Formats: sequence, structure tokens, C-alpha cells
Amino acid sequence: MTTVRTRVAIVGAGPAGLVLSHLLAGAGIDSVILDSRSREEIESTIRAGILEQGTVELLDGVPGSRARTVGSRHDGIELRFSGEGHRIDFAALVGRAVWLYPQHEALRDLIAARLEGGQDIRFGARVHEAVGADSDTPAVVATTADGGELHVEADFVVGADGSHSVVRRAVCGSHGGYFREYPFAWFGILCEAPPSAHELIYSNSPDGFALISQRTPTVQRMYFQCDPEADATAPSDAEIWDTLQRRVPGHALAEGPIFQRDVLRFRSFVASRLTRGRMAIVGDAAHTVPPTGAKGMNLAVADVVLLADALESLLLRGDATGVEGFDVRALTRIWKAQHFSWWMTSMLHVAPDASAFDRLRQLGELESVVGSTAGSTYLAEAYTGWPL
Ligand SMILES: Cc1cc2nc3c(=O)[nH]c(=O)nc-3n(C[C@H](O)[C@H](O)[C@H](O)COP(=O)(O)OP(=O)(O)OC[C@H]3O[C@@H](n4cnc5c(N)ncnc54)[C@H](O)[C@@H]3O)c2cc1C
Repeated sequence: MTTVRTRVAIVGAGPAGLVLSHLLAGAGIDSVILDSRSREEIESTIRAGILEQGTVELLDGVPGSRARTVGSRHDGIELRFSGEGHRIDFAALVGRAVWLYPQHEALRDLIAARLEGGQDIRFGARVHEAVGADSDTPAVVATTADGGELHVEADFVVGADGSHSVVRRAVCGSHGGYFREYPFAWFGILCEAPPSAHELIYSNSPDGFALISQRTPTVQRMYFQCDPEADATAPSDAEIWDTLQRRVPGHALAEGPIFQRDVLRFRSFVASRLTRGRMAIVGDAAHTVPPTGAKGMNLAVADVVLLADALESLLLRGDATGVEGFDVRALTRIWKAQHFSWWMTSMLHVAPDASAFDRLRQLGELESVVGSTAGSTYLAEAYTGWPL
């Protein structure tokens, strides 16, 4: 068994863990990051795409960040229903924007910058236990890529280990949290085609929802609402294009060969607590949202901005008030984001048991958003992100 000592042990080299280590390093606080996956796997997993303005501004402080150069700025989105598109103009409504920059590209930037800065990242180290939350010496125990046991002792342990968090068990015990399941999922594709639109299209149709997103000039990302039990391998390319096109009536999609497909199940979750003694959970370990509001990665970043501040007070000045108040401060934003993600999801998807009343009410809701400056402004404000 190998034992390593550091100030903050971070489980997970996703957006939450890497951004936290970056902020801690800026304050002169050492950390060790452990991740069960290899660097190559982390850097190639396709997930989030939309970064809030505040997230991009934070990434500006990461040496070599390409969010503004490779990523593209979006000043609005289109809400589409009843065969017509309605632009939500973020710039005009709230003077803010979002950036389309794939999560794995942001992780590539962060990993390169952290390693360049001397960060200790243990790839292939699977944590199976977090212990000592109520002591001054919490620790994590991991199995390394070569089968050895690694014990990391710290002044504080942070679980940034995603939705199947191991650290959450040590923080929440058997209390779990608050859940909501949805009766639909997203069928996602990556295809070789030119962009079908310059901005994202969120389309509600009688057959269900579709999201037309972009990636590069030659590769596009698109999703359509499906049954949670759908088999991603079952439909032919022609059937997928037919479904997508029917879900975006009145807008011709540029089609091309589909080279990746997956079914993404939805779940809303907030943990019963985020801290216990000298342990905290952040990002997807603490909460998950359906992807319709593009909030997951952004919320992970917002959590760690608050936590880094609290850890700086605790570890550099012996002031525990920031850590003690972390739950209340973080949860305020988390529940606002939960609401926004649930609202976008319920407004745009068609529930399998929707009645004629439900369908007509939904169209009334969409009209209220696009036909009112107040309605559009709420969407623009929440989508581009509340200030960090
Ligand atoms: C298809 C899709 C589209 C999305 N679109 C958006 C979007 O547009 N905008 C947005 O903001 N969010 C979006 N999200 C959500 C976003 O990807 C997540 O919220 C984000 O990755 C959360 O970051 P995290 O660091 O908390 O967790 P993760 O990214 O899950 O990272 C956790 C890390 O911990 C590691 N780990 C887990 N268990 C252990 C263990 N026991 N020991 C060691 N390491 C461990 C994992 O290997 C992983 O690298 C999307 C998600 C999906 C799936």
C-alpha cells in the first residue's frame, strides 16, 4: 500500500475536479486528483457542449484554454413549435452569450494546463472508499491501474466523482436525496454533415422534441425524444433522419452518415446534503439535471467556485464559516437550475400520456415565452447563466 499526503484529495478528473484543482492551485493549496479512467478515455468522452458565459470567463484563466478560439459564441437560440421558429435573442435581452465548446475539449485544455502546472493526477485510480469525514484527517482509498492500493490522506476530501459517486455515500449516508424520473430519454447522434442552422434549434412538435445542435463545420450533434428503453442500434440511418425531420417541421436538415448514436436517460437529483465535516460533494456527485437546459457542467463549475473560496478560508485562515455555509449557498443556485432544467424539459417534450388539454396548454406556454419580453428574458437569463 502506498500512502500520499496532500491538503485536498479530489476524486474525479471531470470538469468539477479539474476546475477545483485549478482554483486551489491559484490560492497556493496543493491537491491530488484521482480518476478511475485513463487520460485518453476522459479526453474522448462526448458529453456537454454549451458553456455559460461565466464558465467561459473562468476558463479564460486556464493557460491555453481554447474555449473562445475553437468554441463558437452563440447569441441566441431558436424555439420552434407549430412549424415556426422564434429566436430568443440573448444579446438583446440580457447582454450575455453562451459558447458551444465540447466538454472533452475543455477537459483536454484543463488536463494539459494542470499537468503543466505540476498537478498530481492519478489516472486509472478507482476510489472505493472515503473515510474520516468527521475527523481532521479524512482520506480516500483507491486501487491503482497496476492493482496496488493507494491511500490519500488530506485536510479535506472532495467528491467530484460524478453521478455514481462513492464519496456521496460518506457524506449523505443512507439519506440519498431528492429524485425525479422522466418518461422519455434522448436519442443522440453524431453525423458527418454541414450545420443545419447557425444556432441551436429547440423544437417541439406533436411527435415529440428534437434538438439540432452543431459541433464543427463537418460534424453535427442532434437529439430527439425517445422511449427510455429504446435500443440505439435498432433504427436505420434513414429512420433516424425521418424522425428528426418530422420533429423539426418547416426547417430542412442537412443529412449525412451517422457515426455515433446513444440513448441518454433523464434524471433530476439533488443530494440530501453536500458537506459533512471535512468532506464535500460537487457537480454530478451532488446533483444531476436533464440536459435540456444545458446546466450540468456549468453547475459543476459554479459549485467549485464557491467551494474553492470556502476551502481557501478554511485551509489558509482556519475560518470554517464558508464550508459550514456551503450547502445553503450552493443549493440556492442548484435548485434554480433544477427548476430551469425541469421547466425547459416539460415545456418542450411531449409526455407519452399527454392529453389534448396538456398539448394545447403546452403551446400556450410556448407562446407566452416567445410573445413576451418578460418570458423570453427569463429563459435568456437562466440559459446564459446567473453570475458566478
Ligand atoms: C449527452 C450529454 C449532454 C450534456 N450537455 C450539457 C451541456 O450542454 N451543458 C452542460 O453544462 N452540461 C451538459 N451535460 C452534463 C455534463 O456533462 C455533466 O454535468 C458534467 O460532466 C458533470 O461534471 P462532473 O465533473 O461533476 O462529473 P463527471 O464529468 O461525471 O466526472 C466525474 C469523474 O469522476 C470519475 N470517477 C467516478 N467514480 C470514480 C471513482 N470511484 N474513483 C475515481 N474516479 C471516479 C469519472 O471517471 C469521471 O471522470 C451533458 C451530459 C450529457 C451526458
